[in-house]
Amino acid sequence: MNNFFISGIIARLYLGHNLALVIPVKSCYSFIMRYAIIADIHANLTAFRAVLDDIERRGGVEEVWCLGDVVGYGPDPHQCIKLLRQYKHTCIAGNHDWAAIGKVDTSEFNPDAAAACRWTAQQLTMEDIEYLESLPLVIEKGDFTLVHGSPREPVWEYLLSVSRARENFAYFQSQFCLVGHSHVPLVFKYDETGACFFNQFSTNVGLVLGKSRLIINPGGVGQPRDGDPRASYAIYDSDTRMIRLYRIPYDISATQVRMVKHNLPMRLVARLSQGV
Ligand SMILES: [Zn+2]
Repeated sequence: MNNFFISGIIARLYLGHNLALVIPVKSCYSFIMRYAIIADIHANLTAFRAVLDDIERRGGVEEVWCLGDVVGYGPDPHQCIKLLRQYKHTCIAGNHDWAAIGKVDTSEFNPDAAAACRWTAQQLTMEDIEYLESLPLVIEKGDFTLVHGSPREPVWEYLLSVSRARENFAYFQSQFCLVGHSHVPLVFKYDETGACFFNQFSTNVGLVLGKSRLIINPGGVGQPRDGDPRASYAIYDSDTRMIRLYRIPYDISATQVRMVKHNLPMRLVARLSQGV
């Protein structure tokens, strides 16, 4: 919003009342926006609320981009879908979203994930089911392609190695691809020479979008797996062309208490404390 306001002033200062010039500048600066990039909420309402509060504290965003797995594992599937739908957002389907509505077989899941999935299915309203049913596997938003696992295999493939990432750059057209699924914040870079690298994605340094193609994972909101139990998400600012990663502490024990109350598997309860 601030960027929008400042750009408006600059346009008036430099262009005066020349309407022919003001119009293209207006349409240009209206594209300066901020987007929240979130993935793998996994029915963890406490973590999700903490992330949304943090976004608000940072001045809000125009739209939330959600990379799938809104449900599964956690104790609040209906509440997380309901809360997400209150925001202007774009969401794609993850494997747990599809499993909860019977679109994929839980035989692909480990026993704990399958048990949580059966419980999740019983918590969803008809509206929730219709919403999950409506989610596409791939969405393109300007320079970005949004998928859950990988552009090659949006539902199931994990992108954790340079070799797999390199192959996947052939499967999307846009300059950048946003993925979730591994719950690990990371960046794969494919530069002009055709070389592919793994880049750290930390909260210390903003990721500047240059000429290279990138595959970016913002980490998981509701079940981080990089050894840091804090919720993970990112904000993309189209003005500065920068993506920043944020780690947000939340009341993990509050989520765990609800999981125990609903008899969700203890291994899933314990892992939240360790971020694995
Ligand atoms: Zn997931």
